[in-house]
Amino acid sequence: MIEPSLLEILACPACETRPPLRQDRDELKCDLCGRSFPIVDGIPNLLVEDGGE
Ligand SMILES: [Zn+2]
Repeated sequence: MIEPSLLEILACPACETRPPLRQDRDELKCDLCGRSFPIVDGIPNLLVEDGGE
């Protein structure tokens, strides 16, 4: 799964306060905004889908 040291430095890209993300199976979840980000091949995909561009 994901490296604990990597998880430590990950923060939600959608929240200004950059809260830490919590791993839930094959996703990283932000408790603040409720977004979840998929972990693909051990690499978290932190793209924010905002519908722009
Ligand atoms: Zn968030």
